[in-house]
Amino acid sequence: MNKAESQRIASYLNSAGYHEVKSPREADLVVLNTCVVRQSAEGKVLGMLGQLKGLKREHADMHILVTGCFVDSHVEDLKKRFPHVDFFFKPGAYSDFLSWAKEQGVPVDEQRLLRSPFTAFRASARNDAGKDSSPCAYIPIIQGCNNFCSFCIVPYRRGREVSRPLDEVVCEAEELVRQGVKEITLLGQNVDSYGRDLPGRPDLADLLYRLSEIEGLSRIRFLTNHPKDVSRKLIEAVVSLDKVCKYLELPVQSGDDDILKAMKRGYTVEQYRELVRAVRERLPQASLSTDVIVGFPGETEEQFDKTFSLLKEIRFDVVHVAAYSPRSGTIAWRKYEDSVPQDVKKERLRKVEQLQASVAGEINSGYIGKEVEVLVEGNKKGKWYGRTESNKLVFFQDDADCSGKLVKVSIEKTSPWALQGKHA
Ligand code: SF4
Repeated sequence: MNKAESQRIASYLNSAGYHEVKSPREADLVVLNTCVVRQSAEGKVLGMLGQLKGLKREHADMHILVTGCFVDSHVEDLKKRFPHVDFFFKPGAYSDFLSWAKEQGVPVDEQRLLRSPFTAFRASARNDAGKDSSPCAYIPIIQGCNNFCSFCIVPYRRGREVSRPLDEVVCEAEELVRQGVKEITLLGQNVDSYGRDLPGRPDLADLLYRLSEIEGLSRIRFLTNHPKDVSRKLIEAVVSLDKVCKYLELPVQSGDDDILKAMKRGYTVEQYRELVRAVRERLPQASLSTDVIVGFPGETEEQFDKTFSLLKEIRFDVVHVAAYSPRSGTIAWRKYEDSVPQDVKKERLRKVEQLQASVAGEINSGYIGKEVEVLVEGNKKGKWYGRTESNKLVFFQDDADCSGKLVKVSIEKTSPWALQGKHA
């Protein structure tokens, strides 16, 4: 989501005559788009703001803008803490950004920023001519979240859910396909809520049916789902639409009901299991990924073991694991003490990572000798790379120019993180 927003701002600045430079040292204008979902991310923002302070001393006419989730409702406090920043604007507050740009005499093309197709962005992969050649693009379809999971800062910083009109998303996808895009990923903090705030209440499944009609579009992905909101209708849309990738992100967060309740996730472990059963019954070939938080306040060894066992039982293709870090302003921060010691959190994190490396290693080794279809995104160190429909990263060698193409690859070697093979 942040990348999509950065691209939108960059696109606007391009149209106003700015071009990208390699380092902030060379820039007249720096826009720092921040993420504070974890303490470590916030630490990076503070480090970067410190570096920019030094640069501004050397280049007094440099403008520094800060946006993203670091910018909360205490802008006056931020201004006092960081006087070297020229302007703070909240995520998505493009009209504030435009007002600032107007004041500074930057040429303003409001249509371009506020309503243009540049809300989408293409994954970055440059060909030899320096042209963006990636066949993959991302389209934000819904911003914000109404869920208020107790550990999460997103609803406070990004606000309530706002969906983009279905026709607008379809138009944008058509335009991207005209530009050569073959795969589109629909983005949202909770894509299952898509359309609830729109007239006629279209949903994500309706959007998938419409997008599938676009000629020239080969693949459609979407993320992230909320397990309590995944509907049968959505599962059936994924089953029946060939272009929709059989890959689902279903963040479980914990395998213990009391912890899930304290997290305010809105489902039990059994309901989650039931969802996975339903998906696997209709989509046996689907690959699944999940998110897990270890060391949530009060998480006992026994509760952690339940999470560990659930991961062993379900055998996800990918597990994103994070140690709980309190975010000020959230419900968990207000209600609970961050009681699990850091070394215990680290050990739980290590255990999950170790388990997942072994599970993913086994799942991936099942690909040896098989032929997979890869959408080639680029070339790294002489090897082409891209992803399968099931989101497996594949590397292969071929002398021909494969960029942007769908290529059949026979898999010869695997690791927990990637597959390797040759053009079949
Ligand atoms: S659903 Fe996701 S974005 Fe929304 S509050 Fe929960 S964790 Fe945060």
